[in-house]
Formats: sequence, structure tokens, C-alpha cells
Amino acid sequence: MRDLLTLPKAHLHVHLESTVRPETVAALADAHGIVVPPLPEAFDGFTQFAAHNGVVRSCLQRPSDFARIAREFCADEAAQGTRYAEVTFTAAAHGERLGDPGMPLLAVLEGLAAGQAEYGIEVRVILDHPRRRSLERLRTTLRLAVSHPEVVAIGVAGEEDHPLTPFADVFREAAEAGVGLVHHAGECCGAASVREALTLGRADRIGHGFRALEDPSLVAELRDRAVPLEVCPSSNVALGLAGSLSSHPLPLLVDAGLVVTLNTDVPSATGATLTSEYVAVREAFGYDDSAMAAFSAAAVSASFAAEDTKVRLRKEIDTWMGRDQVNTC
Ligand SMILES: [Zn+2]
Repeated sequence: MRDLLTLPKAHLHVHLESTVRPETVAALADAHGIVVPPLPEAFDGFTQFAAHNGVVRSCLQRPSDFARIAREFCADEAAQGTRYAEVTFTAAAHGERLGDPGMPLLAVLEGLAAGQAEYGIEVRVILDHPRRRSLERLRTTLRLAVSHPEVVAIGVAGEEDHPLTPFADVFREAAEAGVGLVHHAGECCGAASVREALTLGRADRIGHGFRALEDPSLVAELRDRAVPLEVCPSSNVALGLAGSLSSHPLPLLVDAGLVVTLNTDVPSATGATLTSEYVAVREAFGYDDSAMAAFSAAAVSASFAAEDTKVRLRKEIDTWMGRDQVNTC
């Protein structure tokens, strides 16, 4: 079996605010006089996770705070063999909290630029919007997205039973502006949330989406349209949405012919890295190197990366598989 650390990987679903190193959280908390409760052994559900995540977010205040976590994200991802990442960031929420709509994203982009140059990784940004928040904030999110070419998509996250209807016009405007749409759905709620993300939400990809399995006709539609799913097994287990990794429905999604990518979602909460996610999936389900390379290739294809980046990454994956000669003959 090949080393999955060296498999060139694309990471499509990871929240920047949930990648902050423990020592960075401690340093920022200290600088701002914030008390951060220790991470629990295990979260008792999404609400407890969200509360802890909120405290970490409150530690992000100065431009240098945002730039620091973005640069460290590049370093930590590159160390895991991630060659390309689309990192999710709740820019408008931070801007609203700090009274400066543009600063948090600008600072993150500055940190990402430095990190990409230093660590040889390519990173783009997805701006997310909690569903329970206002239409106006989503409009701010879209404005930020269209103002910065590094932002490839926007999308909604959070309570999936909160309807998308109020946001439909913004999704249409985003699609018309060439901004991608990636929504969390089928994580906490059922197949109906995935269908809503596809229809009202015009989703190019689905964050999580594993509950689509409840509806065979939806599975068929996802397969026929080749809509990629950003599957995050260790997050699902940590947040109590799957009983265990071995009982996670990931193999059912693969066997149904869906486009499955592997992601960490909230690595600082679970302790997972993208490599450990791949290793855990291989160990739990017995996939061979070819199958693991296929997960990585699926993420490359499902990304918003430029075509030349996709071609380069596919070649790197082929090299990892020792398929160079096959391709050059
Ligand atoms: Zn997520």
C-alpha cells in the first residue's frame, strides 16, 4: 500500500475557523483577554460544537489574526500532501462583528497569498452564510465574492431545516455572475434538504449530502448529473451524525455511483487531517490504492480550479500510482 501522505490531494470542504492550531487559539485568546474552554473529549452534538467554534471565532479580531490563521492553514495543508484547497470562510459574519465588512477577507487573502508562495500549495476561498442569518448579509457575501477572484463560490451552512426560499434571488445572481454555489445539505437534515440545495440553491456541489441515500430518485439525479458530494466522515462521527466510521454510509454512496470526495470539515475539533481522513477510510472499508487515488482525482475534478491546475494535479496523482508510462505511451 502506498503512503497516503504523499498522495497529491485536493481538499474541498474545510472551515478556516476550524483549522486554527491550539497554540494559535491560545495566543490570540491571550492577546484579546478571552477565556477559551478546553475542547471536550467528545462533542454532545452540533450545538456544543457551534458554541466552542463561536469562542474561537471571537479570538479573530485584528487583520494579523486572520492573516496568521490563513498562512498557517497553507502550511498545515501542504504538510498533508494537499496540493489544492478550497477553504470556507464566514467573511461577512466577521466583518459584521468587527464593523468592517471587507477587512477579514482581505486579511485572509493576504495570509493565503503568503502561505501559497511559501508552501507551494494553491488555495481558493468559499464564503459561507449561516442559513438563519439575514438576506442582507448573504448579499454582502456575494458582493465580497464578486470583488475578489480568489473567491470561487458562496454557499449556505448551518441549520438545514431553515428554508432557502428567501435566498433564491441571490443564488440566481451568483450563478449569473459566475460564482459557484456549494451548500451544506443532507448532513443534519434529510434528502429534502439536498433536493432544495439542488433546485432553489442551484448547487454545483453538496457539502456532506450523505442523507440523500434516503431517496432513491434523488440518488439517481445526483448520479446522472454527477453532482459531487463533499463527504466528511470523521466530522460526521465527531458531531454524532454517524454512529461510527465503520457504519458511515460512504461505501453506499460510492457503490451508488456518486461522485464522492473526502474532506475534514472541522479538523481542529476532530483532530483529523486530510491524510488521516484518507487513512481512516482505507482502513475502515478496505479500499486499495487505486480507489484512494480515485477519491483524490474526484476532488480535483469537482474543484473550481483552473483547467491547467486540474491537468497538473491529475498527472501528479498518476505519478503517485506509477501510471506515468501508461499515460505517455
Ligand atoms: Zn462544513
